[in-house]
Amino acid sequence: MADNIIWFKGELIPQSQASVPVLSSTAQFGLNVFEGIRCYWNEKERQLYAFRLKEHFDRLQTSCKLIRIECPYDSNQLEDALIKSIQANEFKSDCAVRMTLFVESEGSWSTEGGSVGMFVAPILRTRVQLPVKVGKKACVSSWERINDNCLPPRVKAGSNYINGRYAHMAAIRGGYDLPIFLDHNGVVAEGAGACIFIVRNGKLITPPMAASILESITRQTLIDFAGDLGFDVVERDIARTELYVSDEIFFCGSAAEITPIVSVDNYDVGSGAVGPITNGMHARYLEITSGEIEKYRNWITPIY
Ligand code: PMP
Repeated sequence: MADNIIWFKGELIPQSQASVPVLSSTAQFGLNVFEGIRCYWNEKERQLYAFRLKEHFDRLQTSCKLIRIECPYDSNQLEDALIKSIQANEFKSDCAVRMTLFVESEGSWSTEGGSVGMFVAPILRTRVQLPVKVGKKACVSSWERINDNCLPPRVKAGSNYINGRYAHMAAIRGGYDLPIFLDHNGVVAEGAGACIFIVRNGKLITPPMAASILESITRQTLIDFAGDLGFDVVERDIARTELYVSDEIFFCGSAAEITPIVSVDNYDVGSGAVGPITNGMHARYLEITSGEIEKYRNWITPIY
């Protein structure tokens, strides 16, 4: 891993010099919340754009509120830290930024009012080249998605990802690439680190907010622009076997962008190849994120 410069508690330092105490609540209990934010390079304008910062910062504040940790920064300060961390590395190509608030004081899982630190760590990460020709093989996991009455998926906390860990490890060991979670009601929820859309008869369908999902910014983005390409989006429960009879399926997320799924539990999705709607949505998504569509330029923030 490159020893990039990170923003760490107000200072710009090499990542290798940042540390957290071993007895901190973040180290012991995973008491942290975070955002994964993508920035896309626009070669024509020679500018790097961060995507939907307002929505990421709002979600970070929501995560803090629910898990009851104090966010010491407002949106302007969060934006400033993000911009400075990227500028310090002089990144002039696509990158991803991890922004994490962590409880650094010693305490139990229930201690409130602990001191909260933040790091903002950019890494270079290129976008997927289109059209994507090879899709992923998914399985329905035997691990159930966490739900709102145990570990709310709405909170983007590090500890939630242990649920994803079990499902993802089992999928890989079973010969698949990725898991799909059902929720406690037995309907399709999401992936281990991404939301899911299926395509049936030209319609895009995605599970509703109450189906144990993270309030994904990419999911909302796709809902917001799908109409431009002539697609209706329906938010409703999806039954397991609907996955097997879908025409196309894809995951979506800031990191995942749009990830085509070509089989589920060894049932081919549609023809078993990456579908045209999946690639079409992906192409439009990348145009929007890199600032090429005028109508959506209010979603992007220049870094330089
Ligand atoms: N669900 C989960 C569990 C995730 O970890 C992610 C990645 N943040 C997503 C969905 C997609 O969210 P977003 O589009 O905001 O990146």
